[in-house]
Amino acid sequence: MGYLARLRIKNIASEVARRKGWSLHGRTKLYTPVGITRLPCYRCGETALFQWQICSDGNVWRPICAECDIKLNALVLQFMNDDEWERKIKIYRESIGGE
Ligand SMILES: [Zn+2]
Repeated sequence: MGYLARLRIKNIASEVARRKGWSLHGRTKLYTPVGITRLPCYRCGETALFQWQICSDGNVWRPICAECDIKLNALVLQFMNDDEWERKIKIYRESIGGE
């Protein structure tokens, strides 16, 4: 992805965050378990609980809430054609205290 395309995506994300009243966070060093819960989810603005790092995003750690973390996990398992994705997500959801 070129510099301008990256800049455009960052500007769109920043604009969405500004409108919703939360700021976008991310850094190359892992947040502490306590520190992550003081930040809004990068995707939806709810209180973060986890952090994700994506190679194409410059390996920046992004705060993610529990629900978005579950959605990301489900997305990746489905992408990998995992036949047991629903069973695995159910177990994972229960393990992190989800409904
Ligand atoms: Zn979220």
